[in-house]
Amino acid sequence: MTGSRQDSAAALVAKLEQKYERPKPGVCRVCGGDVAIAHTGGGLPLKWVCEGAKAKLDAGELDQAEHVEESAWLDYRPVGDARVMRLIALYRDAMAALPPDVKLESAATSTLASAASDCDESQQAMTA
Ligand SMILES: [Zn+2]
Repeated sequence: MTGSRQDSAAALVAKLEQKYERPKPGVCRVCGGDVAIAHTGGGLPLKWVCEGAKAKLDAGELDQAEHVEESAWLDYRPVGDARVMRLIALYRDAMAALPPDVKLESAATSTLASAASDCDESQQAMTA
């Protein structure tokens, strides 16, 4: 694989991430801190909770449970796609786990280039 093809795949992944990432709904209504997705999938709406409080709770500070619960916010917005974001994360993990000399099949690369073209026609350079 040439460097430009790797760059093309990386650019596509970055573009998909930008398109499908769900914007944060705001800040924690308890403390004003950042919120993070607490769970995804299962046909349920996304659940956002206070990121800092959840980290402390996960670390064993059980007195943070109330803070986490009060900050919970169910996200029904029809934007973003957590499945795509999960796939991107899996893709990155898989790519990072590959030995440096492993190459993508050219068919896969051209599929990526085609998908990039479909994703945004203004990015003609992606198929070059
Ligand atoms: Zn908070």
